[in-house]
Amino acid sequence: MKEGIIVKLIGGLYTVKADDGKKYELKARGKFRHLGESPKVGDHVVFDDFYILNVKKRNNNLVRPPICNVDQAILINSAKQPDFSLQLLDRFLLQIELAGIRPVIVVTKIDLLTNEERARLEEMLSYYQKFYDILFISNKTGENVEQMKSILAHKISVFAGQSGAGKSSILNALDSSFQLNTGEISKALGRGRHTTRHVELYEICEGYVADTPGFSKLDLFNVTEEDIRDHFVDFATLSQQCRFRGCYHDHEPGCAVKRELEKGNIPQSRYRNYLQTLQELRQQKPRYPR
Ligand code: GDP
Ligand code: ZN
Repeated sequence: MKEGIIVKLIGGLYTVKADDGKKYELKARGKFRHLGESPKVGDHVVFDDFYILNVKKRNNNLVRPPICNVDQAILINSAKQPDFSLQLLDRFLLQIELAGIRPVIVVTKIDLLTNEERARLEEMLSYYQKFYDILFISNKTGENVEQMKSILAHKISVFAGQSGAGKSSILNALDSSFQLNTGEISKALGRGRHTTRHVELYEICEGYVADTPGFSKLDLFNVTEEDIRDHFVDFATLSQQCRFRGCYHDHEPGCAVKRELEKGNIPQSRYRNYLQTLQELRQQKPRYPR
């Protein structure tokens, strides 16, 4: 019996990369289907010559893309073309936090910025730097692309970010053997040849990257107000100092988040985006449970 990691799934056929580096094509034992929990890409498994026999305990389990044991979400934001958006950043961060995955913020296309614009953007993001790793890169000049390699090494990563942000370009810059058409990784999302029937982890920089981006739109389905409150992690940390337990940082007196906001220690946009998301959830028509 051998052990390895599932790197590909197409139509019920699994490709497992064994600890010895070899790849095997396998099927899953029938018992998984009966249990209603089939092995997924990213799973660490035990297998014999034909079958996956056992799946080891998962750290997490993503729905889109359907991958387990994701170590980090690389959140790609372009500095320009399309313009940088704090609102998008906050949205994506919330979604990634809700999935229980560690975000790493990457800002691409910094070659398109003047020195002043760059300084302003760095200043704007300095607040986020207290909570997250942030990397400024250019796929054009190659600036800081090397650092991207060490971020990806020995981890399973999912890329996230709006279309046109530079996801395919980064993969190409990191490994020329990819030769993805720009836009390809985004185009692939949930359509065409890459449906949930085809999921694959690419080997890159001694790690793995999912072939489809995740977290494409904020789906507030199944999300509660508490979820939103608890996954703006910066506010959640501060909430221990709020007068009321379970404070929503809205109209409550003695709120530590509002105190820090007034002192200028929290960006107005961050707070506004938080309230807006809560508002959106509250206005959502109640849906019937499935
Ligand atoms: P994706 O949709 O997120 O995969 O984005 P792409 O990788 O397809 O990039 C969208 C466009 O931005 C393409 O025309 C790229 O050539 C361009 N692009 C990507 N990264 C950079 C960068 O760092 N600098 C500049 N100037 N252009 C970039
Ligand atoms: Zn509060």
